[in-house]
Amino acid sequence: MDEFSLIKRYFELPSAESARVNAQLIQGIGDDCAVLAVPNNQDLVFSLDTLVEGVHFPVDASAADIAWRVLGASVSDLAAMGATPNNFTLALTLPELSESWLQSFSENLAQAAKQYQLTLAGGDTTKGPLTLSVQVQGFVDKGTALLRSGAQVGDVICVTGSLGDSRAGLSLLGNAVSSPVHNYLLDRFYRPVPRVSTGQLIKPYASSCIDISDGLLADLAHILNRSGKGAKIDSSLLPLSAPLQQIAADKALDWALSGGEDFELCFTLSAKNWRLLQARLAESGHCVAISNIGVICDEPGLQLYRNDQWHHVAAKGFKHFL
Ligand code: ADP
Ligand code: MG
Repeated sequence: MDEFSLIKRYFELPSAESARVNAQLIQGIGDDCAVLAVPNNQDLVFSLDTLVEGVHFPVDASAADIAWRVLGASVSDLAAMGATPNNFTLALTLPELSESWLQSFSENLAQAAKQYQLTLAGGDTTKGPLTLSVQVQGFVDKGTALLRSGAQVGDVICVTGSLGDSRAGLSLLGNAVSSPVHNYLLDRFYRPVPRVSTGQLIKPYASSCIDISDGLLADLAHILNRSGKGAKIDSSLLPLSAPLQQIAADKALDWALSGGEDFELCFTLSAKNWRLLQARLAESGHCVAISNIGVICDEPGLQLYRNDQWHHVAAKGFKHFL
């Protein structure tokens, strides 16, 4: 099979239906470029993410898990802007042409795309070490994208879901034991669920937002740097899941602070908007937990209340280049 039949069979056909129902997509896969109509009163929001085998996922990761992970991680950036996903492009570098790998990858990619409501609009296919780049594109009403730079002194700091689970899942890779607790944590590593609806729900209330890819401390530090502020976090308020505490009680807090790849949202909002958001959450029956973990302050840097004391902490997190 040459690369043109490969593209048709594994990418164009599975995404044909969603391309038909995507009102913005004038031209999808099959031409030199994709063509997208940007609605008049909206801004285009886009972001590119790359996953490299052996760096972002282990060498023995399944094609299915890789598909869910690459799309989940990419869509999470749209969630952090409060955007509505629309489409994505995929640059796929493959060491060999394995039909069973492509079959499973493309099926799962199509399922994930359907779940996150975005269409595969194009891409590129090359030979080399297994690497995936996904560019996601979405829309927000003009001027309303949720940025990292808006945190104000006195704002409440919140996080969605629970933290540290993905790091716990990473610690279980290669472990032969299978149990509901292990499966939950491995799923949190391999199949992060981007908080798209939560991002849209908090957008009118929040002053800044980021998705947690490098770890809470590292990502909150980006909000603080962009906003020119500091923060105080109470470690007893961090949301820790029962499975995390069950397999690693002694490490749970450190993993929640610096583990990374949870793809939860961290955002700030005024005390008044926090009250309004809580009312909105209750009335909408939104099922993602939101925890208030601290406050934005004038004094630069990050302070953490832990073991009955305040500590100045460095923003430790994952970095590719040190
Ligand atoms: P060109 O040589 O003009 O860049 P290609 O031959 O690389 O075009 O691609 C042909 C079409 O197939 C284009 O629409 C491109 O976006 C699409 N495409 C290529 N690889 C992929 C992929 N991995 N997933 C989705 N679409 C792809
Ligand atoms: Mg061309």
